[in-house]
Amino acid sequence: MKPSLLDKYPKSLLNKGTGFLEGYSHSLNPYTGCSFGCSYCYVRGMPVSLFRSEEWGTWVDLKRGAAELLRKELARAKAKGPVTIFMSSSTDPYQPIEYKEGITRSLLEVMADDPPDFLLLQTRSPLVTRDIDLLRRLGPRARVSMTVETDREDVRKAFSPAAPPIPARLRALRELADAGVGTQAAVAPLLPCTGNFPAALRSVTDRVCIDDYFMGDGSGGKRTARLGLDAVYERLGLSDWYARDAYHAVYKACLSCFPDGAVRLSQKGFLP
Ligand code: SF4
Repeated sequence: MKPSLLDKYPKSLLNKGTGFLEGYSHSLNPYTGCSFGCSYCYVRGMPVSLFRSEEWGTWVDLKRGAAELLRKELARAKAKGPVTIFMSSSTDPYQPIEYKEGITRSLLEVMADDPPDFLLLQTRSPLVTRDIDLLRRLGPRARVSMTVETDREDVRKAFSPAAPPIPARLRALRELADAGVGTQAAVAPLLPCTGNFPAALRSVTDRVCIDDYFMGDGSGGKRTARLGLDAVYERLGLSDWYARDAYHAVYKACLSCFPDGAVRLSQKGFLP
C-alpha cells in the first residue's frame, strides 16, 4: 500500500543526539514517518505517531529543502566541534519513497562535499547500494548499518511484511563491503532465527550488533510490551524467543565466527 504523502518545510534538520544516541552529536531524519511500518517499531508509541490520526506506516512527510538546510546547519555545527551523525533514528532513510524523491541522496551529496566526522546510516533497504558512489567519497567516515533481524523469511513477514526480504539485505551488505564501504549487520531487534544465521551474517560483513526489546527499547522492554507483540510470537509458536535471555545463544555463536571485538551488544554496537 502506498503511503499518504505530505510536503513539509522544516526549520531545522540536525537534532541533538540524546538517550540511546548520546554517543552522537546529532541525529538526522530525511523523512517523518516510515512506510515499512514494522510491528515492533518503537516510534509507534511516540508523540510523532500518537498525535496523528493515520496509523504508523501509512503516511510519510517529505522534508522539502532539506539539502540546502543541511548545508547551512552542518557548516555551523562543524564550526562548533566534532560532528557525528546518526541517520536515521525514527524513519528509514531508504524507504520506498526515496527511489522517487531522493531526499536521502541529496543529504549524502551535501555530506560528501563537506564531511562530518562520522556518519552512521541505519537502514533495512538494499536501495542504499544506489549511493555507493557517495559513500565511497565519505570513506572511513561512513558506516552502513543494515538491519537483519533474522534469516527466516516467514518470521520477517510476520513482523515486518512491508520491509525488504532478508536475502536482498544480505546481498546489499556484500555489495557494500565489496565496494569498500564500512558495514555492520544490526540484528535489532533479534527475531527467531535458524542456527545458520551467525554464519550467514559473517559471510557478508565483518561486524555485527545484537539488540533486543529488553536491552534496546529504552524502557527495559515495557515500551515493546505495550505493542502487544507477544501475540505474534504465540501465533508463530515461538514464545520462547520473547525472553530476556533469548539472545544468548545467537550472541555466543556470533562470538565464535566473528573477529575479536566485532560483536557488540545494544547501544555499544551503534556508537561511532
Ligand atoms: S524501518 Fe525502522 S523506522 Fe521504519 S517502521 Fe521499521 S523500525 Fe520503524
